[in-house]
Amino acid sequence: MKILLATRNDAKLAELRRLVDAQGIEGLEIRGLDDVPEFPEAPETGATFEENALAKARDAAAATGLVAVADDSGLAVDALNGMPGVLSARWSGRRGSRTERDAANLALVLDQMADVPEDRRGAAFVCAAAAAHPDGREVVVVERWPGTLIRLARGTNGFGYDPAFVPEGESRTSAEMAPEEKDAVSHRSQALRALLPRLSELG
Ligand code: IMP
Repeated sequence: MKILLATRNDAKLAELRRLVDAQGIEGLEIRGLDDVPEFPEAPETGATFEENALAKARDAAAATGLVAVADDSGLAVDALNGMPGVLSARWSGRRGSRTERDAANLALVLDQMADVPEDRRGAAFVCAAAAAHPDGREVVVVERWPGTLIRLARGTNGFGYDPAFVPEGESRTSAEMAPEEKDAVSHRSQALRALLPRLSELG
């Protein structure tokens, strides 16, 4: 079965291919958006990660006729009532390159959390992964990677909020973990791993 991962992010494509290999799933050919004719990509307007992932998967399936997989993820901070949540990528605004926005988002959250004491610094990375068939059948799963936010960013791996996030049971931030270590336990890999066996429901 040909599966379209609705992303232009090569790292996400490579991660999905590694997970498919690791689970020993045969007969899945993974394609990205760069491999199919262009179609209009709607802005992410959902109130939840599930809604955004489903909308992206649905649009890609309808436009291409392929089974499409999409994810949506972000950081949910307890002391901010679950925000930045679905606004994680745009928390400090839309200006600048992706790298500049990541740095500004991280600085803003650390600033907002400056007066929050240690026992209320809980947060989780959350990822929804969805699959949609052009005939309308769909599946969605959500996974969380819990941890806490530190006060001073540390580490240079990863992206986004990684330098401020210490996963439960770790002393390092997710930006200090090797990429393969993070891949093995992250919200995104948990969600894709949970979704993969369910693709047979759409096959
Ligand atoms: P997207 O789902 O790839 O659009 O990611 C949404 C935003 O959530 C990113 O721009 C980051 O700000 C944040 N985010 C999602 N996953 C991670 C992660 O693994 N590390 C750090 N930040 C993340």
